[in-house]
Order: sequence, then structure tokens, then C-alpha cells
Amino acid sequence: MLNFERKTIGDAGYPVSASRSDKSSLAAFGGTRSVPKGSVTPWPATQDAHLKALEQVVASGRYHRVNHPIVRSLEDRFGSWAAPWRVRAVASGTAAIHIAFHYYRRPGGKVVAAALNWPGAIGPIHAAGLEPKFVDVSLSDAAIDPAAAIEAVEGDTTALLITHLFGNPAFRRDMRQRIRARGDVALVDDCAQAIAVAAWREQGRSLDSDALALSANGAKHLGAGELGLLCARDQGLIDHVDRVSLASSARNGERVFSPITLGYNYRPNVFSSAIARYRLETLEAQIEQRRRNAAQLHRRLADLSGLRPLFNPAQPHNSFLSYPLRLVPEDLDLPDSAATRDYIAELLLSEGVPVWVWLRKPAWDYLPFSRSRWSLQDFPNTRRLLDTMFYVSEIAPPNDETVMDLYADAFEKVWSVLPKLKDEIAARAKSAA
Ligand SMILES: *Cc1c(COP(=O)(O)O)cnc(C)c1O
Repeated sequence: MLNFERKTIGDAGYPVSASRSDKSSLAAFGGTRSVPKGSVTPWPATQDAHLKALEQVVASGRYHRVNHPIVRSLEDRFGSWAAPWRVRAVASGTAAIHIAFHYYRRPGGKVVAAALNWPGAIGPIHAAGLEPKFVDVSLSDAAIDPAAAIEAVEGDTTALLITHLFGNPAFRRDMRQRIRARGDVALVDDCAQAIAVAAWREQGRSLDSDALALSANGAKHLGAGELGLLCARDQGLIDHVDRVSLASSARNGERVFSPITLGYNYRPNVFSSAIARYRLETLEAQIEQRRRNAAQLHRRLADLSGLRPLFNPAQPHNSFLSYPLRLVPEDLDLPDSAATRDYIAELLLSEGVPVWVWLRKPAWDYLPFSRSRWSLQDFPNTRRLLDTMFYVSEIAPPNDETVMDLYADAFEKVWSVLPKLKDEIAARAKSAA
């Protein structure tokens, strides 16, 4: 019966059965969840094979050191996937970002960065003795607004931080070229959520960047615990990893105290490296399934009013760490308020759809050193996205199109009831204001 109903709704493009558009059909009001418990496999999708990878570390008799053969072979394998980038494994994505900024730092230097940002990626700017200078983002992919970035770059700009959110690749070719023409501004790409950018080629050329920072933490594509990867072209930056990171263990295995170390000890975790190395073998297939899942969701959700993809559906290089969306409350005749988004996200969540509101505040609000030095009024797109965006997580394998259909069923059910919830949503928006 559920199947039949789903088909009817899908074919018609809108709900046809009166009972389905009743408030009581929603799980939040006592109805049956669209996504039954146990039908979703949460990332990092643990497998017994991961134990095998960990066993190799135990069998090696060594649990740490940067020159561990497992770490080396992870770097080599990732390096051949991402060639010509040179690769170093480090403790985290945050460490990779810090090392890059530390390498490019100049006294009094500024880093131009998007206001809609992972707060943990802004911290390293400060840690490297630099200062962030925020600019707005584009509404289409939540990445840095190219015109605003170009305008913000001045004589004191040391680097531009380009953050690729949700899996969206922020190629921004024109922007990169224009900033390159200035000569002395480093381009640092935070690809923690968009691993496919590292392997991207156009006419044989990889992304025009100085450093790619990647994360292999448990939530990211390599889902490996705590781990990061730094990709660079400049051997100087690659060498700098040891300088910032290591205290007493050199990459050649010597146990010497480096006279120039900063001693952050950003060493890669060997256990995490073993898992990341194992997952690398199926990375392409993983990304492929994420793309198929995203395409399925996109097909099913395309006709729902007031809902826009926060990615370019025609862009083939997306890594789809998640499936990002934004609401257009006006299209639904609902209050233009974050409370509207929150209300709808809660309805979806109670249907069993793994939805998340990623961030509610601009990056600076999370950071003690830059709080209240900026005003959200000056960043209208960031403000709009903070109030309207959310994403569907758990779009990785083994979840497939049948699971995506369950998510889409939930959206359709919620959307069919929304007209009857206008008063409640309006009341919620009013009390939030
Ligand atoms: C996860 C993430 C990071 C940090 O990676 P860690 O490995 O957790 O330190 C940085 N930037 C973005 C956009 C991220 O999503």
C-alpha cells in the first residue's frame, strides 16, 4: 500500500489522497514515519573489513610514527589518485589548513575568506598570526562570491581561502586567474567536504591552487577517525609540514629534535591511516553512488515549491558529502524566518530523514578573537543561507536510491501538509522574532 501511494504521488507530482495531507499523517503528530527505523546506514558505514585494516597496524608492532609504512603508502596511493599533487598525511584537516597558512604568513597579513564558513577553518588563520577578512558567498553553491573576493584582495592580503562546502566544487576559474595576476596571494582550498576536487583535471591540468586541505575525519569521504591530508605543488610547503608538525621524529625515521620545529605534533594517526588507505580503494565507487543518490533526490524533489538545490545539478564533479538545500519561504507563503526552516527540518527529522541545519551563525560569531568585529547585515547571501539552508546527510553507500525514495516520500508528505500548518509556523516565527 505504501508503495502504491508512493507511485501515485510520484506520478502526479503532488499528493492526491486527502488522508495524506492531514496533519495527523505526519510522524511529528502521531503518524507513521516515512523512513522506517533501521532503513538508513549512517556514515562511516562500519564494516568488518575495517577491522582487517586495523589488524595490519597491530601486526606491524608499531602504533605511531610518521614514517610508518601504512602512512607512507596512504600518501603514495592518494598521491597517485590526486597526481600531480604532492601529499602529506597530518593529524586533521584543521592541521593541514594551519600548516598552509603558517607557510604563507606575512607580518600583518590578511586572509580573505567566506563569511559562511566552518569556524574550525578560520581558527588556523589566527593561529598562523594572520587576520581573516570576510566576504559574502554565492547563493547558488554557498562558496565565496568571486567578485567580492577579487575586490577584497589588497596589498596586505596574504592568502585567499576557498572553501568547498557540501561537496560543491568551487572552481572559480576567473577569480583564481585574476588573483594570480596580482602575483603574491596564495590560494588555499579547503576541500574537507569535496575530496573529488583533488583528482579533478581539465585538459590535463589540476586546480589552480597552492594548497588543498582535506579531512579524513569520521564524517568525511575517507571516514577514518581523525586524519588530514595536505596537497601542495611547492616542495617548500611539503617540507614545512615537518617543521610545523614534528618535534622528535623526522620522516626518515631519525629521532632528532629539530632545531626549527614549532612542535605542534600534527602527526597522522596510523590506525586512521590504515582505514583511509582501505577506503581509498573504493572511493570512486563511493562518490559515484553519492552522485546517483543525489540525482535521485533531485528528480524526486524537483517539483516541490519553495525548495532549491544548493548545488549546480549540471555540475558533474560534485563530491556530495551531503545533499544541500535551501528554502524559499515566500514561495510557500510562509514567514521569511529561520524558524520556518527549523520547523520544516524538525518535521522531516521526525519522519526519519537525516536532515541537519549545518550552521546558524557566521564564522566569526564562533571565534573569540573576531566576534562582533563584523556585521551580518553586510553579507546578505550568507545571512539568507544561514536562515534557509539545511542538508540531507546519509547519502553515502550502502544507502542507495531506494533509501533516497524514502527520504523523498517524507518530503512529499511534509509538503502536502504544509498548507495546513501555516498558522503554527507563523506563530513559531513570531515567538522567535
Ligand atoms: C571537517 C572540516 C574541516 C576540518 O577537518 P578536521 O579533520 O575535522 O580537522 C575543515 N573545513 C571544513 C569545511 C570541514 O568540513
